[in-house]
Amino acid sequence: MPDISGQLGSVVSSFFSSAVVQFVLDSIVFYLFIVWLAAAYWAFRDMHDRTENPVLPYFAAALILLPTPFLFVLGVIVYRVIRPAERLGDVYERNLAEEALLAEVEAVKTCRGCDRRVDPEWIICPWCRSRLNRVCPNCEKLVGLDWTLCAWCGKDFERAATTDQTATEIQFVAPRPIPTGAGEQERPDGGTITNRKPAIGG
Ligand SMILES: [Zn+2]
Ligand SMILES: [Zn+2]
Repeated sequence: MPDISGQLGSVVSSFFSSAVVQFVLDSIVFYLFIVWLAAAYWAFRDMHDRTENPVLPYFAAALILLPTPFLFVLGVIVYRVIRPAERLGDVYERNLAEEALLAEVEAVKTCRGCDRRVDPEWIICPWCRSRLNRVCPNCEKLVGLDWTLCAWCGKDFERAATTDQTATEIQFVAPRPIPTGAGEQERPDGGTITNRKPAIGG
């Protein structure tokens, strides 16, 4: 009785163990098969994110599929080595950041005369003496050189400019009664000595 049961037990156990082994082997193969296909799909999507070329994603998937479910890891390694380093999204973000930086740089005001960086609130360039801004004669706020009227108080510069021009014309028409001092000195023999240029031009 113990003999029979022992034999039966060993047969059952060997059958059972072989079925389990078979099942485990089948499962491993099935699992490898799934991972193989998933890896090919991953390579396809990954290449799709890294290139605009429509053919290369298929090439990447083929690179994973060709080495069979048992050696596809080699294909994954090769793919990881040869794929483009950056994703298109990363490239796009980097370009955006560069453009933003460039716009910031361009927003920095520079002198029209010497291209040096100037403060937006300066009225004159300290290096080349170019006019940068002017002061509104009415409200004394900074206004742009090309403004036709003051944005702060509404004073019309077109009219002011013409009166300024007539004022300078009058000054140039009748220079003799006004002692300029800093400008040209007339000598008795008719020659002129130019000491220095007027401090502010234009
Ligand atoms: Zn300058
Ligand atoms: Zn003003």
